[in-house]
Amino acid sequence: MFDCHMHANFSTDSRMRVEEILAKSEELNIGCIITEHIDFNFPRPGEFIFDIDDYFKTYNRYRGDKFLLGVELGMKDDCISDNKEVAERYPFDYIIGSIHMINNTDLYYEKLYNGRTKNQVYTEYFQCMLKNIKNHTFIDSLGHIDYIARYARYEDKELYYNEYSDLIDEVLKMVINSGIVLELNTKRLADKGSVDNLIEIYKRYRELGGLNVTIGSDAHNMNDIGKNLNVALKLAEVCELKPVYFRNRKAEYM
Ligand SMILES: [Zn+2]
Ligand SMILES: [Zn+2]
Repeated sequence: MFDCHMHANFSTDSRMRVEEILAKSEELNIGCIITEHIDFNFPRPGEFIFDIDDYFKTYNRYRGDKFLLGVELGMKDDCISDNKEVAERYPFDYIIGSIHMINNTDLYYEKLYNGRTKNQVYTEYFQCMLKNIKNHTFIDSLGHIDYIARYARYEDKELYYNEYSDLIDEVLKMVINSGIVLELNTKRLADKGSVDNLIEIYKRYRELGGLNVTIGSDAHNMNDIGKNLNVALKLAEVCELKPVYFRNRKAEYM
């Protein structure tokens, strides 16, 4: 079993140390892939970027059966070639591609939602995702398809498959046809309602021909490592999807 998504201290928003990851991984008896953040051209210069050579120099000695080295690339129009270069030049085990911003505004920020309806912003979110998957076919998995439902500022920010079924179908088909795996991010799986809504999306992924999922906690501290992994495994089983992890950029069954 692998937790395929977490952030250690090369990520701007995490202070987790590799020793903490290794200890937790031992305690839970799972493998871990660290996926440090790279979001090129982040609005605040110097944030969400790190020295990749230093990353490999620092972590290579820990690399082994249960500790693998990945990256989470923020997908945007203005950094496709930079992202591609990172993917091709460095020996990562695993590359997640994620949408964290729309028109260079972080989904985390309230201003993205101000004066705009949920429908407008969610539609734009999926259009942005669609366009970027097309330009980032070199990634291994699409991160947290439900990311917007973490931070949107609406009374009901939940993502319902049937409200955006056309767009979500397009995204899922694009993922499948590009040979990319859909991630099942466990961050929102503590909530039963979210699980039920995600099941709809992952069942549809299977129906359209998707076979595998990666599972990741997106932990930024050691207490979150492995969180809700059992819920994710159950969800994958219900949707008849096989959990995989990546080593040397190749999918392996857990
Ligand atoms: Zn992310
Ligand atoms: Zn992440």
